[in-house]
Amino acid sequence: MTRIERQLPEHEVTPLVEALAERFIQRFDKYPRQADSGAYYTIERPLTPDLLYAHLRGSMTLGAYLLDEESHGRFLVLDADDEPDRRRLAALARVLDQVGCPSYLEASRRGGHLWLFFAEPLPGAEIRRFGKGLAAYFNLAGVELYPKQAQLRTGPGSLIRLPFGVHKKSGRRYGFYTPRGEPLASTLRQQLMALSAPETVPDRLFEQYAGYVSAPAPKPVLEAIESQGETLSERIKGAISCEQFIRQYVELAPNGRGLCPFHDDRVASFSVNREENYWHCFAGCGAGSVIDFYMLWQRVEGQPCDFKAAVKDLAALLLK
Ligand SMILES: [Zn+2]
Repeated sequence: MTRIERQLPEHEVTPLVEALAERFIQRFDKYPRQADSGAYYTIERPLTPDLLYAHLRGSMTLGAYLLDEESHGRFLVLDADDEPDRRRLAALARVLDQVGCPSYLEASRRGGHLWLFFAEPLPGAEIRRFGKGLAAYFNLAGVELYPKQAQLRTGPGSLIRLPFGVHKKSGRRYGFYTPRGEPLASTLRQQLMALSAPETVPDRLFEQYAGYVSAPAPKPVLEAIESQGETLSERIKGAISCEQFIRQYVELAPNGRGLCPFHDDRVASFSVNREENYWHCFAGCGAGSVIDFYMLWQRVEGQPCDFKAAVKDLAALLLK
């Protein structure tokens, strides 16, 4: 017996409704419904299969709560509100695909959602720890994380549009895509059935991203610019996080290690020390500040620059 049949034994449950309920519904005691304005309001009645069927037919549009009554959830959703953030989510989906972390892109009215499913229900606090680590690791500052609550205190908490319905404001349905940007299946019906058994986040990667804590900026940028008695190069070293800067050029593991970009490296000789804010290659390519990295990088790129020119280039970052 599935969850919805246990909750509502007197109802007939079709396979599509069952797939929708099993994958996306966390609680059956109440539900959010979308008004024509696009806003959602809570209906304090049980969510029945008939209502889910009406959602699939398009005669009403429902939302989905992220957490159940015990504050557990079964997915993380990253929400992008505009096209630049949607493109970042699409890029993230491709990178995650390469490291073996499955995710599903869903189109939306303005941006997009990226869904990551878990094999077991997890406490909201764990899901958020994973989401925050993921966002920090991949530098996704503008992207919102759902669930928004680690634990429910009053009310059912955050909600999102329940997939496969008609958006009341745009009058459209939105489908799911693979990390390569192809439709997950050729019809929405097939997509929903495919999602009834989604690929889930491997434990190893869950732990890796959940354990990631973003590199602290050594000093607030404005404070560094305004500080007196320091040379411009000292201000740059103080204000720019070596780790965050180098991540733009080098794929680093959460512990700051990676393949050195300056020699033919196979053993991750390159490492960034977050606390001391410097980098180092154990194979002898050098070590130093963000300025030293930039100079070496420019040399490798065939655009060598001296210290003065490097400082000039990096000073521009202080003003961003
Ligand atoms: Zn090296």
